[in-house]
Amino acid sequence: MKRTDINAIEQLLSRLPVELKKYFANQLLGQINAQADTLIETARPHPLCPHCGNEHPVKWGRSGGLQRYRCHNPVCLKTFNTLTGTPLAKLHHRDKWFAYLGCMLDSLTLRITAKRLGIDLKTAFRWRHRFLASAAKTNANALSGIIEVDETWFLESCKGKRRLTHRMTRKRGGQGSKKKKADKVQVVIARDRNGHISDLVGPTLSKSAVHAFLEPIIDHDSILCSDGHSWYKTFSAEHDIAHHRLITLDHQRVIGKEYHIQNVNAYISRLKGWIARFRGVGTAYLPNYLAWRRLFENGDSSEEAWLRSAIGIKQQQIPT
Ligand SMILES: [Zn+2]
Repeated sequence: MKRTDINAIEQLLSRLPVELKKYFANQLLGQINAQADTLIETARPHPLCPHCGNEHPVKWGRSGGLQRYRCHNPVCLKTFNTLTGTPLAKLHHRDKWFAYLGCMLDSLTLRITAKRLGIDLKTAFRWRHRFLASAAKTNANALSGIIEVDETWFLESCKGKRRLTHRMTRKRGGQGSKKKKADKVQVVIARDRNGHISDLVGPTLSKSAVHAFLEPIIDHDSILCSDGHSWYKTFSAEHDIAHHRLITLDHQRVIGKEYHIQNVNAYISRLKGWIARFRGVGTAYLPNYLAWRRLFENGDSSEEAWLRSAIGIKQQQIPT
C-alpha cells in the first residue's frame, strides 16, 4: 500500500465520530484475532498424520472452524486437524490467542492478562504453559563457533504446588538462605556468538548430566569458554574441543579479546531481571520460563512467530 493511501485512510478515520471510531477499532481487532485461524490453517500446508505419520491426508470437511483431514492409511483412517498432537490441541477461544500472545510479548503477569482478556486466571495459567511447551522441548539448539557457558542459580519455588513437604514455607519468592544451595536450582546456560542458547535445569547437576547436555549441541570445531568448572574441562578433553578457562582468581576474565564469557553473563542478568517480575517461578515450570526468554532472544518477537513456535514449527520451516 502506498504511503499516500495510508495517509488518506488516516485522515478519513480522524474525521469520524467517536462511536464509529470505536466500531472500526473493534472490527480491526476482530480481524487481527482471527489471524490465529488463518495462520494455523496455512502453517502446515502438507500436514502429516499425527497418529501414524502417513503423508498426503485427504481433506475431510471442517470442524471447530478448522480444516479437518483424514489419514488414508487403511490401518489408521483417523481424522485430525493442524493442531492435533500439538500442545494447543483442544484449547478453546482461538479468537483470544493473538491477544494472549500479545500479553506474553509484553511479559504481563497472569492476573493482568486474565483481566485484560476476560478469561479465568486458571485458563491464563494453562495457556501460558501450553504456549511454551514446544519451545521448552526444542531447547537442544545446535551451537557453534565461540561458545560461552556458565552456571546460575534460581531460588527453588514450589509455587503452584498444594503441599510443601521438605521445607518451611516462604512468602512471595523471598530471599531463601543466602548460603544454602539446597533450596536453589542450578541452571547451566550455553550461548554462542550468534545468540543461540541452550539451557539445562538442575535440581542437582552432575558431570554426566552436563556432558550429556553438551554433547549433542556442541559442534566439535567450536571453542568453549567457561569459568573453569571441572565439568567443562573434562568435557572438552574427552571430545577434543578447544577450551578457554576464565578463572576469576586474578580477576582475569578475558583471554585475548574474543575469549570471554561476558555475553552469557549479560544474558543471565537479562534473564534474571526479566524473571523477577513474576515474583518466584515454580521450579517445575522454570524450563518454560527459560524457553519464553529464549523466544525474546531469538529475534522474531511477534504473535505470529510465537504461535508458530507453539505449534512446533521452527522459523526455517515457514512456507513462503
Ligand atoms: Zn494415520
